[in-house]
Amino acid sequence: MHKSFFIKTYGCQMNNYDSEKINDLLVLNGFEKTDDIENTDIAILNTCHIRERASEKLYSDLGRLSIYKKNREKLGKKLSIVVMGCVAQAEGEEIINRNNSVDYVVGPQNIQVIPTLLKKKDFGKVHIDFLSEEKFKSLTFSQSNKISRLITVQEGCDKFCSFCVVPYTRGAEFSRPLEDIYAEINDAVEKGCAEVTLLGQNVSSYESSIYEGKEKKVELGNLCNTIAKIPNLKRIRYLTSHPNDINNNLIDEHANNKKMMPFLHLPIQSGSDKILKVMNRKHTKREYIELTKKIKLAVPQMAFSSDFIVGYPGETEEDFENTVSLVNEVKFASSYSFAYSPRPGTPASIQIDFNSEEVKKKRLNYLQKILNIHQNNFNKELLDKEVEVLITDFGKKEDQYVGRTPHLQPVHVFSSKNLIGRILNIKIERLTSFSFHGKILN
Ligand code: SF4
Repeated sequence: MHKSFFIKTYGCQMNNYDSEKINDLLVLNGFEKTDDIENTDIAILNTCHIRERASEKLYSDLGRLSIYKKNREKLGKKLSIVVMGCVAQAEGEEIINRNNSVDYVVGPQNIQVIPTLLKKKDFGKVHIDFLSEEKFKSLTFSQSNKISRLITVQEGCDKFCSFCVVPYTRGAEFSRPLEDIYAEINDAVEKGCAEVTLLGQNVSSYESSIYEGKEKKVELGNLCNTIAKIPNLKRIRYLTSHPNDINNNLIDEHANNKKMMPFLHLPIQSGSDKILKVMNRKHTKREYIELTKKIKLAVPQMAFSSDFIVGYPGETEEDFENTVSLVNEVKFASSYSFAYSPRPGTPASIQIDFNSEEVKKKRLNYLQKILNIHQNNFNKELLDKEVEVLITDFGKKEDQYVGRTPHLQPVHVFSSKNLIGRILNIKIERLTSFSFHGKILN
């Protein structure tokens, strides 16, 4: 009988990609996926270190798993517990010291060892070396036939923003070779995929090379240009970008390549130059605004989303007002905003955080109100208009389908025909707080 495995994924899309890869590797190695966490043979927790209290969440899940493990032992059965992801990388052996029901700790660059760990005894319990190259070489193509797929093209980060754990948990920047990415996307398209999102912690710094008579540098723009040649690939997106890495090559690709979606997630975090400096972001508010203007000049339909940290150590009312004025100037189509909380191991975590939780909450509420106004205004512009929607999934209701506009807005339509994978012209008739509802025109 095949051994069953259960995966719980916390956090970002890179973790979703890694979980999908582990899923495929385990299936290929004869294991069977289950959603029944209490009765599984193997439980894998793919952890995230970005959000506050990430490790507390992990230890509370581990507490529950140790009970299941004991229950299974009473029945003469085993439960192997694997902790992978960024908390595994950051805490290593400490995880086993704190909860001895954990069998293996595996960092994000070591996930390829998991099938071997589960099959061989004495292969070591803690695997947290930075082995990006080996990781990607040993991963197989996914069996997924999803219309919209995430493809990791780059991992790690050399930017060292003072609030961020990524350079410590995912290591130095590593870009996958162009041929490997092309082959993976080509395979995904053959299985029905129509849209890819190229993932990287700092995807805009993607850099590899190809040999065409001589060594040629390949940047993110070149990568997008190459994969756009795959005939049935219809849409290309990427995330997450750093403003300092958005170069003319990429902007030109957006302007000239119709498969590039006009939507860019471009985190800024704060609109205060003083705070940007202590965050080690290495750009100013004005430079960011000028960059968005330059992109819009080349690609008029471009819309931006961003990330904001409110109440960063040292943020004054004036600094916060600078963030609000930036938001009012750029008018983001959507955004993620959080009150600052320290991440252990980052330089920011040892700075004095003198803003009270109350002040942070007040500023965050105010900022979110402004961000929502701009998001609503942006969305309202689509009412009564015709827009191209890629249908990716079934909706919750009968004969309902869900798709995304080029700006990633979710659209619901009804049809008695199967629309999955099609790009349709849809007239937007109604807007609710979370999505659009429309009528199919073609
Ligand atoms: S660029 Fe992004 S991933 Fe890199 S350190 Fe800064 S916030 Fe973290």
